[in-house]
Amino acid sequence: MNVPSGKGKAAAGGLAMALTAALREYRGLWFGWSGEICETFTGQIAMHKVQGVTTALVDLEEGDFQEYYNGYANKTLWPLFHYRIDLTAYARSFGEGYERVNRRFGETVAPLIEADDLVWVHDYHLIPLGRELRKRGVTSPIGFFLHIPWPARQLITTLPRHRELVESLFAYDLIGFQTEEWLDAFAGYVRKEAGGEALGDGRFRCFGRTVRAAAFPIGLDAPEFSAMAESAEARRTFERMRRSVSGRKLIVGVDRLDYSKGMEERLLGYETFLNHHPEHRGRVTLLQIAPPSREDVHAYQEIRGRMEALSGRINGAYADVDWVPVRYVSRAYKREELAGIFRAAQIGYVTPLRDGMNLVAKEYVAAQDADDPGVLILSRFAGAALQLKDAVIVNPFSQEGLAEALQAAIEMPLEERKRRWESMMQSVMREDVAHWRDDFVAALMRARDEARSKAAE
Ligand code: ADP
Repeated sequence: MNVPSGKGKAAAGGLAMALTAALREYRGLWFGWSGEICETFTGQIAMHKVQGVTTALVDLEEGDFQEYYNGYANKTLWPLFHYRIDLTAYARSFGEGYERVNRRFGETVAPLIEADDLVWVHDYHLIPLGRELRKRGVTSPIGFFLHIPWPARQLITTLPRHRELVESLFAYDLIGFQTEEWLDAFAGYVRKEAGGEALGDGRFRCFGRTVRAAAFPIGLDAPEFSAMAESAEARRTFERMRRSVSGRKLIVGVDRLDYSKGMEERLLGYETFLNHHPEHRGRVTLLQIAPPSREDVHAYQEIRGRMEALSGRINGAYADVDWVPVRYVSRAYKREELAGIFRAAQIGYVTPLRDGMNLVAKEYVAAQDADDPGVLILSRFAGAALQLKDAVIVNPFSQEGLAEALQAAIEMPLEERKRRWESMMQSVMREDVAHWRDDFVAALMRARDEARSKAAE
């Protein structure tokens, strides 16, 4: 169960990609918001078959969209969970909208669930849904996966009713995080704030309930993506890119336009690099692809203006008659085209300030040519950094650090590039989306079996 990216637009997020691949394999039902707005919420479900997956979608009313989706999900939880309390809105009406919509979803979907179904709830929009289903008598195993970071205790305690939010997580049988780091932050809250205990075997006891929690790092459909990099369309895009940079080294960043992705810091790091290394001026090109997202939210309108101003400023300062240092492109590309772009780039420049996982980093690795792979520069604050240890790991807040990483990546000899890439590629192929899904589902089934044998005692 999950919420699409909003208002009927094609979802560009990693979550949608991963889930479609996962649901095709199981004969599952995808329940969520349709992305459409109706006059008054009716709870009427529209069933469709999309890419071999049955979807059961409901419309939301305007007030829900504003208070729940734009409000609590994207103006409260998203910034807070990405460590941006400066951008977090704490309006009470948003919290009420969040509770209301989760209650409505619970009422709507509970009758569809049969006793032996496994229920898998996705992401921060739906944290209380498990509790709502339990209230309506659902006894099936229910798992929850959080695709974004879990914030430090000192941050989440700024949220009014944080305790109720965390308590609602204890209605699940299993909670999945992207990395051990987010799991540790959750454990810190349970022990130090809520007075619960870690039982030491992956179980946590608090609020009179016991829940299992573990890290399940999400992956790509890796064989598919690396095959895509060999497709005719990817090759065409690759050729087009290589022609257009005329022998210069290409550095690429691809992100939804979101303040968590560190794109401004990334540009500033590149500016510092050009400043410190005049010998590279005219010999590198930074391509930043960043289609707008969540345009109804003010912070997203602002970042767009700032990115345009910043890339304009750098180009104004350094461009020559035959060279533009930054190409800033704000449209989405097909996955085949992206694969070709990644392959054409000698450097993948992935520097989020905080990111649950970051699939772009993995896609960059999967798209490389084994005989001449590029270098991945990766923020230590992306969940992916815990797996892709052979990337050039950076602190995205340090402009000098970014500049040094760019210099190191540009000069890295082929042998070292191959060694680093091979180790990263192994991880991308091994810990792929099927591995993630199977691990989570197996853990949820174990949790169900445990609960049954306890009940039989
Ligand atoms: P998030 O889920 O926060 O957006 P991820 O890095 O985990 O971040 O996933 C982003 C996904 O969206 C990747 O699969 C990436 O290829 C895709 N994507 C990002 N930007 C574009 C774009 N301009 N065109 C097409 N796909 C994009």
